[in-house]
Amino acid sequence: MDLERLVDLAAEARSRAYAPYSGFRMGAAVFTADGRTITGTLVENVSLGLAMCAERAALFATVEAGSLPVALAVVSPRTDGSVTFPCGACLQVALELGGPETVVVAATVDGVVEQSTVGELLPRGPRKA
Ligand SMILES: [Zn+2]
Repeated sequence: MDLERLVDLAAEARSRAYAPYSGFRMGAAVFTADGRTITGTLVENVSLGLAMCAERAALFATVEAGSLPVALAVVSPRTDGSVTFPCGACLQVALELGGPETVVVAATVDGVVEQSTVGELLPRGPRKA
């Protein structure tokens, strides 16, 4: 599992983000259990509640491709000065599909990279039995 390449793929996906309202361009890439990579990008809408995070776009596409995630990388600007990790909704989806050991790599557009796991970022999220 090449996490550096996964970040590069997330950065490429970020370049395709549709973010005319927030300007907060974010891309994601999943490394799948069967060794593939699948990307997703943020898509906003004039009806703001219809926006979809890059991470969930990639996670849903992973299921559609017949696999599950083992790592998730995101690339975006910082949030309030800090590296931006996936939101709670995306972490919950990653917890469901990949479990608490799913690796999460968050990178800024200026190259700062931090690594964690879904279980560390969402320690008490509802888990399937
Ligand atoms: Zn999200």
